Amino acid sequence: MHRDTLIVHAGYRKSTEPGPFLSGPQFSSTYTAPGDPSRHALTYGRFHNPTWTAWEDALGVLEGGQAIAFASGMAAAAAVFGVSLCRGDIVVLPADSYYAIRKVASTWLDSIGVQVRLAPTRGNAQAAAIEGARLLWIESPTNPMLDVCDIHGLVDAARTRGTLVAVDNTTATAYLQQPLALGATFVVASDTKALTGHSDLILGHVATTDGRFADALRTWRTHHGAIPGPMEVWLAHRSLATLPVRVSRQCATAQQLADLLASRSDISAVRYPGLPAHPGHAVAKRQMQAFGTVVSFDLGTRPRAEAFLGALTLVREATSFGGVHSIAERRARWGGDAVSEGFIRFSVGCETAEDILSDVTHALQAASVRP
Ligand SMILES: *Cc1c(COP(=O)(O)O)cnc(C)c1O
Repeated sequence: MHRDTLIVHAGYRKSTEPGPFLSGPQFSSTYTAPGDPSRHALTYGRFHNPTWTAWEDALGVLEGGQAIAFASGMAAAAAVFGVSLCRGDIVVLPADSYYAIRKVASTWLDSIGVQVRLAPTRGNAQAAAIEGARLLWIESPTNPMLDVCDIHGLVDAARTRGTLVAVDNTTATAYLQQPLALGATFVVASDTKALTGHSDLILGHVATTDGRFADALRTWRTHHGAIPGPMEVWLAHRSLATLPVRVSRQCATAQQLADLLASRSDISAVRYPGLPAHPGHAVAKRQMQAFGTVVSFDLGTRPRAEAFLGALTLVREATSFGGVHSIAERRARWGGDAVSEGFIRFSVGCETAEDILSDVTHALQAASVRP
């Protein structure tokens, strides 16, 4: 069967089983469980929940490994750090990783005596920093710069040195890229973004093919309490069946938008892995099924970027990405990323491509008219 078909049915009951296709969210903090607790499948809501189990089964299908659901992408990332690193270890992070990952490294990891090395994603520069490291953390494409690295190549370089590899797969999603198949030890993802795609929840997960790490991650979740709510998980599962349809359309429109922007002489530095001029294009083509739902570009100055955002009528100004509604923001308003004042991160939604492109064209026109 095709992968898209498997995703539509992932984690659902078998077609031969009577009852709902997907059971509703199970709201229970505790379960009737007399006597020896080990005799009961369900005892307490922080340990397990059938709604999580169905969702994790679905994620396992997508990732090709065991999945463990967390309350957010950052909770998932913290769990990977927590089960793989201890005092004296070295972790290699992308210098251009998602901002909060670097923040956790420079605060918590530093405070527990883990040494952090930073190297850029571009050009596989992290390869030169692996020697002696316990964990290599990769992000590809990066958020928000959309730089790409060769996951398989970096995994090979890490494996020969006994270094574990975690891939933050948020931007691509498991639909477009499967790091476990490329040899990674862990996949980490914020499911807040394109994976669930409706801008209505915060969730994350880790996936691994290593049974001992899977157990350690579940234990971490139980003890640290970074558990997802059943309602969020059920909404996420409900959204998953449309992942192939949503993301295919978003990627197709993102390519059109990137082509349009790249053809304009008044915009510098259009970043999209689907553009042949992108330095990671060939690698992205090899390791991704399509090039993603986000396009970044530079409007040069803060006033021009703000004028552009203010002139959009269909596309909302909001943070995050991957959802069915197109959004855009001036990334420098947050601080923390090495982006210029006019840098825009544009998340392409599921609206008709023509409407998105015409909104962008009009807003660019408005932004070029000087007051
Ligand atoms: C959003 C994001 C995260 C954090 O996920 P949350 O669900 O917001 O906790 C981690 N990594 C990347 C690349 C992200 O974009």
